[in-house]
Amino acid sequence: MQNIPEIRLKAGREKSIRRRHPWIFSGAIERVHGDPEAGSTVRVLSQSGEFLAHAAWSPASQIRARAWSFDEATSIDAAFIRQRVARAIEWRRQLQRLDDASACRLVFSESDGLPGLIVDRYGAYLVCQFLSTGAEFWREAIVSALAELLSPRAIYERSEASVRRKEGLGLRSELLRGELPAEPIEFNSNGMRQLVRIELGQKTGSYLDQSVNHGRVAAYAAGASVLDAYSYSGGFAISALRGGAADATLIDSSADALLLAERQAALNGVADQCQYTNANVPEELRRLRDSERRFDLVILDPPKFVSSAQQLKSGCRGYKDINMLGLQLLKPGGVLATFSCSGHVSADLFQKIVAGAAVDVKRDAQIIERLSQAPDHPVALQFPEADYLCGLVVRLLA
Ligand code: SAH
Repeated sequence: MQNIPEIRLKAGREKSIRRRHPWIFSGAIERVHGDPEAGSTVRVLSQSGEFLAHAAWSPASQIRARAWSFDEATSIDAAFIRQRVARAIEWRRQLQRLDDASACRLVFSESDGLPGLIVDRYGAYLVCQFLSTGAEFWREAIVSALAELLSPRAIYERSEASVRRKEGLGLRSELLRGELPAEPIEFNSNGMRQLVRIELGQKTGSYLDQSVNHGRVAAYAAGASVLDAYSYSGGFAISALRGGAADATLIDSSADALLLAERQAALNGVADQCQYTNANVPEELRRLRDSERRFDLVILDPPKFVSSAQQLKSGCRGYKDINMLGLQLLKPGGVLATFSCSGHVSADLFQKIVAGAAVDVKRDAQIIERLSQAPDHPVALQFPEADYLCGLVVRLLA
C-alpha cells in the first residue's frame, strides 16, 4: 500500500463520501501524500486515517477525486474496469436493448460506477465520451473491454464536451476501433426508424434520454397539429405523426439537425406532414403567437439552460419565457410537453417555473403526466445529480 498515493480529508469533510457520494471537492482535502498522476488511483482517508474510498485523482478539477469503490479490498485495475463495464451492459441486456437494430445508453457515468464515462450504442456501433481524468486514464482498458464484450463494428470517441476542459483535458474526436459507414446508421426506437451520424451529430449523435418520452408524448397526438420546438432530428414530431398527428412543425437552430429530421421523416413515411423552420426558438414562437397560429400539441425540449449554479436565475427566466409562449400557442384543451435537461433545476423547481408561466399568461392548466430520463439512464441512489431530465405534460383547460 505504501506506494499508492493517499489523500487525507479535513475533519468533518468525509460525510458525503461516507454516504457513498463519489465526488471529493478540492476544499475537502487536507493533505496529499505522494505525487499522484492525473487519473491514477488514490486512497481516500479520513482525517484520522480511516480508509474511505479508492478514487481517481483529478488535479485540475474542483472535483479533485472521483470514487471508484468504497471497498478497501477492491483493486482498481483493468479487470475492475471490465467488470464495471460488464455490469452496465448487463442492465441494458435486461432492458432488451442490445439487439443490432436498437440503441441505448450503455454506460451512464457515476450511475454505473464509472465516473466520467459515457458510452452510447447505436446498433453495432459504439460511441464513447471520456469526461474525467479517471475515465481518460483507463481509456484503453475501457475500449478493450467494450470490444471484447460486444464485438462492435466500430468504436468512436466523441470526447468533445466542455466539461473536459475543467478536468484539464483537451477535446478529441476519433475512430478507436473498426470502421464507420459512410451513410447514417439506422436504429429502431420503439418502432420509430431513427438515423444517426455518430461522427457529426450533436453529443454522441442522438438524444437517447428522450427515447421513451417520444412515445409517451405521441399518446396525446391523435389528430393533432404539432409544434416540435428544439426538434433536433424530430424524434417527438415523427413519433407524434406515427401516433396519428395531422401535421408537425419542427423548429431548430441547426440546419444539419433539420436535414437529418427530413431524412428521418421520409424513412418513417411522414415526410408530407412535416414543415421545417430553421430559427431561434423564442423568436419563432413569438412570431407564431403574433400571427395567431395555434397548435394542439406543443413540445419544448431546449438545450441545457443552466450549466452552473450562477446561471440558475437567468436559466429559469429562459425556461419561463418559452413556457409562457408555449402555453399561448395552444388551442383550448391543447397539450404542452415541456422539458428541462438542467441538473441544477429540480423537478419541483421546474414545476414552479411552468406554473409561474401559466399564471403570467393567465391560463389554467393541469399536469397530466410527469416524465424523466429513459431507464438506460439510471440514477444511482447516492448520486442524485444524475437525475437531470424532467418533463411535464400539461393540459390547457378551456
Ligand atoms: N427534441 C430532441 C432533442 C433536442 S436537443 C429529441 O428528442 O431528439 C436541443 C436542440 O435544440 C438541438 O437540436 C439544438 O440544435 C437546438 N437548439 C439549441 N438552441 C436553440 C435555439 N435558440 N433555437 C432553436 N434551436 C436551438
